[in-house]
Amino acid sequence: MGTHGTHVCGRLCVSCPNVLVLESGAMMTPMSLGEFDLIERYFWRPAGVGPKRAIVGNGDDCAVIAPQSGMQLAVSTDTMVEGRHFLSTVDPVRLGHKALATNLSDLAACGAKPLAFTLALTLPRVEEAWLEAFAHGLLQLADEHDCELIGGDTTAGPLSIGITVMGEVPVGGALLRSGAKPGDEVWVSGYPGEARLALEAFRGTLHPSLPADAFDAVRLAMECPTPRVALGQGLRGIATSAIDISDGLLGDLGHILKRSGVGVALNLDALPVSPHLKPRSLELMQDCVLAGGDDYELLFTAAPDRRAQVQQLEQDVGLMLTCIGRIEAERGVRLFNQGQPGANRWASFDHFKGAA
Ligand code: ADP
Ligand code: MG
Repeated sequence: MGTHGTHVCGRLCVSCPNVLVLESGAMMTPMSLGEFDLIERYFWRPAGVGPKRAIVGNGDDCAVIAPQSGMQLAVSTDTMVEGRHFLSTVDPVRLGHKALATNLSDLAACGAKPLAFTLALTLPRVEEAWLEAFAHGLLQLADEHDCELIGGDTTAGPLSIGITVMGEVPVGGALLRSGAKPGDEVWVSGYPGEARLALEAFRGTLHPSLPADAFDAVRLAMECPTPRVALGQGLRGIATSAIDISDGLLGDLGHILKRSGVGVALNLDALPVSPHLKPRSLELMQDCVLAGGDDYELLFTAAPDRRAQVQQLEQDVGLMLTCIGRIEAERGVRLFNQGQPGANRWASFDHFKGAA
């Protein structure tokens, strides 16, 4: 990217250095901070602050990191675009948190321990208060997981946040989608469905609307999800397969079934139901739990003789784990309610259709 004068210059910048024209046509005054000042001020940590594990960190052409011997690198990327993945009004502290949380969730699903990440940030303008809040939310979660920001890219354009995260797993120890075996039990962590309930509240589709405290709670679940990092690492050697629920429980379970070449019998009456979903209609509750998304809970399979270990892990990480069904050799999804076969209203569920 080029810099003209003191401001970041993207391809939408005309008449440098005086005006930045946004896609909407709105004219902004010049960015007050140059690219490098901005990066240094908000994203580089002073010596002694935050984790330091890169041999060469932020500020060189490449960061250099070395996995420990006996470990493999697990790498994943997630991008969030304004208007598609978040609203322009979202609290920037929560946005910074969520941008990293969704990536840490992918590491968790593989059983990996977070090491480092890079940040590709596209900004329509430089708003220092926004940047400070965003960096705070991002780096606070990074420090919590001892995950170092080792580099990135900063450019002008419509707001988007791309993060690539790196973690480590013992050689051959990564949890994959492909290991589910007939007879395995299917487990899910926490209360999937709350993020979808929040989305419906924002859309104004809930009648009656949510009480204020419930709205705040589910909004927090949607805007500030907790990646299940400790659970993921604890599942190494216990789970036969795992995935994080970003697109909805049934859709993501479908990925495990497809990769593993198996089917499932799911017990609708066993689904964990958030206290905020309990008072709603059965239909809404099931839609949120089974076809909601953005939850970042973990869904995993484990042999029945691992049940005691799963329950011990539940205690160790302090997170509810619920057995919701069983893997079967026959492909497809079969739903049961109190032991009786039930209709699958979500048979045509496809997260590419009408995705929010
Ligand atoms: P180059 O042009 O050599 O790719 P850049 O000008 O894009 O380098 O970035 C300069 C340095 O700042 C690099 O070390 C890069 O990793 C780092 N950097 C750029 N943007 C960010 C960011 N948003 N967060 C953290 N580090 C960043
Ligand atoms: Mg660069």
